[in-house]
Amino acid sequence: MNTTIAILGRPNVGKSTLFNRLLGQRKSIVAPIEGVTRDRIYAKVEWLDKEFNLIDTGGYLPKSENLIDKKVKLQSEIASEQADILMLVVDGRSEITSSDRALAKMIKITGKPCLLVINKVDNPENEINTFDFYELGINKQVCISAHNGRQIGILLDEISLLLPKVVKKNINEKSISFAIIGMPNVGKSSLMNTLINENKSIVTNIAGTTRDSIDSYLTYFKNSIRIIDTAGLRKKSKIDDSLEFYSNVRTLRVIDECDIAAVLIDINKGFNNQDKNIIRYVIDQGKGLIIVVNKWDLVSKQTNTMKDIKEDMIYEYPYLKHYPIIFISVKEKFRINDVLKNVLEISNKNKNKIKTSELNTLLEKVIKYYPPPAVKGKEIKLNYITQVSQSPVVFNIFVNHPTLIPIQYTRYLDNQLRTELDLKGLPIKISFKKK
Ligand code: GDP
Ligand code: GDP
Repeated sequence: MNTTIAILGRPNVGKSTLFNRLLGQRKSIVAPIEGVTRDRIYAKVEWLDKEFNLIDTGGYLPKSENLIDKKVKLQSEIASEQADILMLVVDGRSEITSSDRALAKMIKITGKPCLLVINKVDNPENEINTFDFYELGINKQVCISAHNGRQIGILLDEISLLLPKVVKKNINEKSISFAIIGMPNVGKSSLMNTLINENKSIVTNIAGTTRDSIDSYLTYFKNSIRIIDTAGLRKKSKIDDSLEFYSNVRTLRVIDECDIAAVLIDINKGFNNQDKNIIRYVIDQGKGLIIVVNKWDLVSKQTNTMKDIKEDMIYEYPYLKHYPIIFISVKEKFRINDVLKNVLEISNKNKNKIKTSELNTLLEKVIKYYPPPAVKGKEIKLNYITQVSQSPVVFNIFVNHPTLIPIQYTRYLDNQLRTELDLKGLPIKISFKKK
């Protein structure tokens, strides 16, 4: 699991400017998720050969809200529970404030590695004023300008020094990592416990992963499935109930770490907007996805209830048609093992690279049925397709004008490939390359 770094600091010191600046340095970022008040609060950053996750704690509460105490408390919670390294941002152009002191004190209590980032030092002349900040007791200091990018490379080098040298792989490579996610009270822990009790399983504490993570390994038809511990997800926020559940960085970390995620929903409550966001996040991350509708025992059933509900869901979120939607009741142990069956099926689909010859025969057929339209008077030619990655499934299609492919045509190809190749449950990506 990647090291997670939290950006802490009182309002207006430049946290979100720094967050965006660090993302701007990236070689790649993977689909950040929407936060409560800002667009992005969590993202993966790559710097040289290292990778880390970044949290902008400023994104958790509205800026206008004048609740400094609350912010400090919330940041403490994030710092102590979710981050491995802390960056305290202060404003290099102002005096130290009581909030700076409170945050510095809290950081020291956590005992975690930390950096003091003195921001708004837009040019070298400003640096003379920054010695005062040693009073905060954080010895590692970097003066930067998040705004104009000054010394950001130095900051990243300092961060790199704090990151672990080798990423330890102490997770059983052969097992399929599976996560059960969803809103509170949909039945996640009930499902997890039932799966563990009904199958041969071991519950292990894996050293070196997250602080309090306890994963379970169970054997299902000779396959080892690791159920990632989501205990943290069950903990309700102590600070603010209105905090969006899925903004919880733990959810995002669990998704990053899994191969396949099941999004659990309560049949009586249906989809929530946050479910929709999280589903999109799972897909964007290239993870396998299963929609599990729980509490089937609570609905009065008619002949077509299941089919109707499924159709309604797909009507509402058309992209769900490419993912399994299953109905279970944990309480009545109805179809519980369908969950594992689907995990296994998706995982098996992912194992073999599709033959290039098979792909090209298919592409030919698909183009013949519906050729790409000419764009700006230019004829578009799709020459060749090949699978370049299995997890996630990525296809390269070589074309004469990669930038001119209309989005509708991409969707058509996506649809055809998924249907013909039976990739249900797996997200796929199509990348157009210049021939
Ligand atoms: P946050 O509340 O800590 O997330 O702060 P913001 O990132 O929203 O920044 C607050 C204000 O400080 C904005 O007006 C930024 O443009 C400004 N700011 C941020 N970084 C710098 C910097 O390096 N130099 C200067 N001069 N202004 C900055
Ligand atoms: P979590 O917050 O998502 O982990 O949800 P829990 O597993 O704690 O379950 C929340 C509540 O839903 C508990 O009272 C469970 O007993 C109940 N529950 C879970 N699964 C079912 C089910 O299939 N049917 C019914 N009727 N209740 C369920």
